[in-house]
Amino acid sequence: MARLYVVSGPSGVGKSTIAHAILDKFKDSIIYSISMTTRHIREGEIEGREYIFTTVAEFEKLISEGAFIEHAKVHDNYYGTLRSQIESALAKGINVLLDIDTKGAQNIKKNYHDAVLIFIAPPSTDELRQRLLKRHTDSVEVIEKRIHNAIQEIEMSSTYDYIVKNIDLEQAVGECEGIIEDHMNNASARA
Ligand code: 5GP
Repeated sequence: MARLYVVSGPSGVGKSTIAHAILDKFKDSIIYSISMTTRHIREGEIEGREYIFTTVAEFEKLISEGAFIEHAKVHDNYYGTLRSQIESALAKGINVLLDIDTKGAQNIKKNYHDAVLIFIAPPSTDELRQRLLKRHTDSVEVIEKRIHNAIQEIEMSSTYDYIVKNIDLEQAVGECEGIIEDHMNNASARA
């Protein structure tokens, strides 16, 4: 039975690297949920690959039409998971990986009880600050705001099914892949 796998964690924690590794390993059985967002496209990003980028007006119209299974405002921008993407994958028996914030993850669990929630935690907030500074994608003010949000997100991690601390990337990837494999094996054992 196909299900949703959600990874959350503060920005700079290594979530997207981990998500890429998971998608690579399970390329025949898991697809990535490409969220819609109103934030500006970053250098290196491609429309329709990391996100579907849109305007606030269009996003709000889609909210009123019920196009999202969950949406949230993160760092002052809208982000949402498109119902059409998720439902068509699940109907075809394909698992979906979502990289969404802690509020989004809670909303997913409410509607998809068998969703598996994995929180990727940084070794410490100081280490997270260093990683965000090294990334050179945000100003110091934005980084401080992200750290503030990170502290709140870490407080929510106790509601997750699993917490994976990213001290060593390879190890964290291995732990996440192991969790997913276990769930896939259990699902096929029950089928
Ligand atoms: P970024 O702007 O750095 O790509 O993402 C900022 C935050 O938004 C990340 O924590 C990411 O997980 C979250 N996010 C991305 N897409 C969605 C979504 O569709 N829904 C929710 N709730 N959060 C999202």
